[in-house]
Amino acid sequence: MTAPRFTVACDGPAAAGKGTICRAVAAHFGFAHLDTGLLYRAVGAKTLSGMTPIEAAETLTAQDLTADGLRSAAVAEAASRAASLPQVRAALLAFQHEFAAQPGGAILDGRDIGTVICPGADVKLFITASAKVRAERRLQELLAEGADTDFATVLADVTARDKRDSERAVAPMRAAADAVLIDTSCLGIDQAVQAAIDAIAGKLA
Ligand code: C5P
Repeated sequence: MTAPRFTVACDGPAAAGKGTICRAVAAHFGFAHLDTGLLYRAVGAKTLSGMTPIEAAETLTAQDLTADGLRSAAVAEAASRAASLPQVRAALLAFQHEFAAQPGGAILDGRDIGTVICPGADVKLFITASAKVRAERRLQELLAEGADTDFATVLADVTARDKRDSERAVAPMRAAADAVLIDTSCLGIDQAVQAAIDAIAGKLA
């Protein structure tokens, strides 16, 4: 018998903890996990090497997703710019749909998963936190990777990216009406993961 399909959509602004939470949730339930931001970051990285965003999205390969430097602030900015183009988003649609429909369950995190990619998802989560908390977390990640940056720079980057992502005409970042909201501003990792697991376990039961 084929394992049943079960899709979890997880959206939210930059550095809210989506990746950490989704990796833990995927391990807990045995779901496959797709960080869709990585697709846009890979497109952004290719644009920084001179390709047009549309060409970059249409020629994206699995190898592009393992390129060096995809977590940098410059790539995030290029990703957000490319992500505002409808043709770029369209080129990445089929892969995300196939991933979401795989047997055994899948969790996808991004900005438009519950609203555009998987509007029929079994569970929708919207993970958020205050801009200051998110910037502080991202700063620590970047410093740990050896980046030369500071809090004010990271806060400005995160805020500008959220503004562009939520105000763009196509697939803007927003919580689906039926999403469970998890504000991680005052939560530790374990508490945030538990809140997500509880929301999913209720629907799986
Ligand atoms: O999640 P992450 O910060 O890695 O995403 C990088 C950028 O990719 C975001 O700022 C956003 O512009 C874009 N993105 C998107 N839709 C998604 C995932 C990411 O537009 N589903």
